[in-house]
Amino acid sequence: MLSLAVLLAGCGAAQTAEAPDGKWKVTATTGMVADIVKQVGGDHVEVTQLMSAGVDPHLYKASEGDIKRIEDADLIFYSGLHLEGKMVEIFEKMSKKKPVKAVTAGLSKEQLLADPAAPENPDPHVWFDVSLWMKAVEQVRDDLSAFDQAHKEVYAANAEKYLAELKQLDDYARTELASIPKERRVLVTAHDAFQYFGRAYDVEVMGLQGISTAAEYGLKDVQTLVDTLVSRKIKAVFVESSVPKRSIEAVVQGAAAKNHTVTIGGELFSDAMGEPGTPEGSYIGMVKHNVDTIVNALK
Ligand code: ZN
Repeated sequence: MLSLAVLLAGCGAAQTAEAPDGKWKVTATTGMVADIVKQVGGDHVEVTQLMSAGVDPHLYKASEGDIKRIEDADLIFYSGLHLEGKMVEIFEKMSKKKPVKAVTAGLSKEQLLADPAAPENPDPHVWFDVSLWMKAVEQVRDDLSAFDQAHKEVYAANAEKYLAELKQLDDYARTELASIPKERRVLVTAHDAFQYFGRAYDVEVMGLQGISTAAEYGLKDVQTLVDTLVSRKIKAVFVESSVPKRSIEAVVQGAAAKNHTVTIGGELFSDAMGEPGTPEGSYIGMVKHNVDTIVNALK
């Protein structure tokens, strides 16, 4: 009994103690999640990001090295809503040993959209509605504060500053996209990552593949999309940094065969941010890049 009491006291104390080397080791899955943890955790965290630029989280499998990075971490943040579909088991296993937190955990059913192909599952691409991603920032703030109560006020101040920047970003996206005439405000991409973006900023979205890139697309899907482009006289489609370009190129070729010229309007960052050190290597830079690319191609 005594040893159990000591053990329990030890567990409780660990949560408010200083990190051994001054920084908590946090492992995050996508760049967008890692960015939140860096912004909110500031000097008190050392963030390891598992999925680098151009990596597709739907298909991502943890390597041996990743498992070590997850085991070494003090806490783990992931995006959730089944985005990291092939990592669920690892998260479940690890959650018995340390905090494993989904940044989307606080979103209500009403805020979420369904996967059209499987309506019982939510669409995980919430980061493209900046106002929803702000909820993810609040979630990280709350989870970090619960884990490390000694620095609660620091996390609150860091989050407040970042949330103000995201509010500006949300306004920027809304204003810029509204400058595209309504009938031309159609976003065609390889996979259905932009449903939340479309809802938030009043853009019609069409994807060739489903919500997850794990779903196959067929010739029929290409043909259906081509027919829509021709009949709606849509002039531009977009490739994504984390999805092979051949699918959207098939659409461009299909349209050409029907004497309708469609250009590639640019590359969007959908499920992964750009290279570290570039403007698109941050969440804010990535969203700005997408908004500017879409506006330039469609306006
Ligand atoms: Zn996706």
